[in-house]
Amino acid sequence: MMSGDISEPIAGLPAPVPPRLPLMLLAIVFVVLVCVSLIGMQAWLTVHARTVQIAESEAASANLAEAVAQHAYDTIKEADTVLVGLVERLEHDGRSEPELGRIHELLVHRVAELPQLHGIFVYDADGSWLVNAQPVLLRNQNNSDRAYFIYHREHAYRGMHIGPPVRSKSTGDWIVTVSRRIDRPDGSFAGVVLATIDMDYFQRYFQRFNIGEEGAIFLALDSGIVLVRRPFSEKSLGRDISRLPLFRDYLPKAPVGTVTFTSAQDGVTRINSYRRLEQYPLVVSAALSKAEVLAPWRADAYLFGGGAVVLVVAIALLGLRLVRQIQLRTLAEAELVRARNSLETLNQTLERLAMQDGLTGLANRRQFDTSLKNEFSRAMRSASSLALIMIDVDCFKQYNDLYGHAAGDECLKAISKVVADKKHRPGDVAARYGGEELVVLLPGTDVAGAIAVAENIRAAIEALELQHNGNVSGHVTVSAGVEAFAPVRFETEPVDLVKAADQALYRAKSQGRNRVCSGGDDGGRQAAPVFACSRS
Ligand code: GH3
Ligand code: MG
Ligand code: MG
Repeated sequence: MMSGDISEPIAGLPAPVPPRLPLMLLAIVFVVLVCVSLIGMQAWLTVHARTVQIAESEAASANLAEAVAQHAYDTIKEADTVLVGLVERLEHDGRSEPELGRIHELLVHRVAELPQLHGIFVYDADGSWLVNAQPVLLRNQNNSDRAYFIYHREHAYRGMHIGPPVRSKSTGDWIVTVSRRIDRPDGSFAGVVLATIDMDYFQRYFQRFNIGEEGAIFLALDSGIVLVRRPFSEKSLGRDISRLPLFRDYLPKAPVGTVTFTSAQDGVTRINSYRRLEQYPLVVSAALSKAEVLAPWRADAYLFGGGAVVLVVAIALLGLRLVRQIQLRTLAEAELVRARNSLETLNQTLERLAMQDGLTGLANRRQFDTSLKNEFSRAMRSASSLALIMIDVDCFKQYNDLYGHAAGDECLKAISKVVADKKHRPGDVAARYGGEELVVLLPGTDVAGAIAVAENIRAAIEALELQHNGNVSGHVTVSAGVEAFAPVRFETEPVDLVKAADQALYRAKSQGRNRVCSGGDDGGRQAAPVFACSRS
C-alpha cells in the first residue's frame, strides 16, 4: 500500500559479504594435513627402512662371524687330529728309522689330503727336524728358536698350542702354527709336532664373502695377536690388537656379540660381530661398514624423499589454487548478492516512483485508480462503506498568476503534506488526482466520517495561513466534495464514487469555496461568505 510520504533517498548498497572463512580454513587445514602426513609418513618409512637395514646387516655380520669361526675350528681341528695321532705314535712306537720312514709317508699323504695344511713337522728335543711332510726329507734344519718350540719346551701343557703367524723357513709362505708337545715316558720334553696352516687357505675363504670395500674379517688369538685378516696386509699379521675396543671393552663382557663403533685407525664406523671360539683360544670378527650398508637405503631415501617433496610441493600448489578459487568464488558470490540486493532496492525504488507523484510525494493517479478499484471490490465484498474526498485549491490560477508557477508548486506541496498528515488509517490513500486536485480514499468510512476528515483537512490548510491575495480570505484555502456509499454489484462502479465526489466539489465551489460539500447535502458547510476568485 502506498503511503503519502515524501520520497525517501535510495538506501545505500549493502556492504560486501565477508569471505566464507570456515570453508577456506577447512581447505587450508586439509592441504596442510595432507602435506604434513605425507612428510610424516615418508620420514617414518625412511627411519624404519634404516632400522631394518641395520638389523639385517647386524644379522648378516653375525652369520658371517659364525661361518668364519666354524671354518677356523674345522681347519684347525683337522690339523690337530693329525697331530694327536702323531704324538701318540711317536710316544708309543719310538723313533726308529723304519718308523720315521712310515711316519714320513703318512705325513706326505695327510698334507696332500688336507688343503689347509702347509706342512707337518716333527722336531727332536733340541729343535732339529726328525721327520716332516716334504717329499724329500731334509734334516739339517733347526727350529729351536721358534716361539712354539720354546713354548712347548718350557711348558708341560699337553694340549694344542696355536702360535703367532710366521714365515715358513722352508717356503717363505705366511703360516699359522698348530703344535703339540711330545713327552718321554718320564714326562720330560721329547720334542714338538707341528702342523703349519697356509695363511692363504684362510684368505681364500675370507675372500668368498661380500663385505664391501670397507668391510673387514679377522681371525686372532684370544691374546689379541692377529693371525689373518681381510683386507690382507703384511703389517697386520701378528699385530697386537688387544688394546682395541673389541678386546678391551666388549670381549670381556660377552664372548659373542655385535657392536657398532668407529675405528680409531681409519675413522670408519663398522657393525662388528665377534665371537670367541669355545674349543680354541681364538677370536673371529666380521665387520661391515655402516656407510656401505646404508648406501642403498640412503639412495632410496633421497629418491623417495625427493619424490615426497615434489608431491608435497604439487599438493601445496594445488591447495593454494584451491584456496584462491574458494576465495574468488566467495568474492563472486558476495558480489552477486550485492548486485541482487542493489537490484532489489532499485526495483523497489522504481516501483515506488512509478506509484508516486513526483511533486507532492502522494500516490499518483495510476496508484489511486488501482487502489480505488481494489477498495471498491473489497467494500463490495464486505458490504462496507467506501468514502472519497475530492479536494481542489481555491483560485489557484490566480495564485500562479500572482506568485509564479514555482511558488504554486511549493504551495501544492505544503497542502499535500497536510492532506498526507490528516489521513490516519493505514488503508487510507491520499493521491494527486490531477493538477491541483487531490483525493483521499477512506475505506470503511461513511459520509459523516469522511466529512469530518475533509473538514479537518480544510481547516488545517486554512490554518497554514499561506498568503493568497487573489483569494477573498487573503489565505490559501481549499474546497472539498465528499461522497460515500456501500458499493452494490452491477449497480455502482468506482467512477460513480468519483463523479459524485466531483459533483459535491462543484457544489462547494459554486457555494462559495473554502468549504466541504457532500453528495447528501445541497447547501454544504459554509466557512466563509460566498465569493468568486478575484481577477488578477
Ligand atoms: P477554482 O478552482 O477556485 O474555481 O479556481 P481555480 O483558479 O483554482 O481554477 P481551476 O481549479 O480550474 O484552476 C486550475 C489551475 O491550477 C490551472 C493551473 O494554472 C493550476 N495548476 C494546475 N496544476 C498545477 C501545478 O502542478 N502547479 C502549479 N503551479 N499550478 C497548477
Ligand atoms: Mg481545479
Ligand atoms: Mg482550483
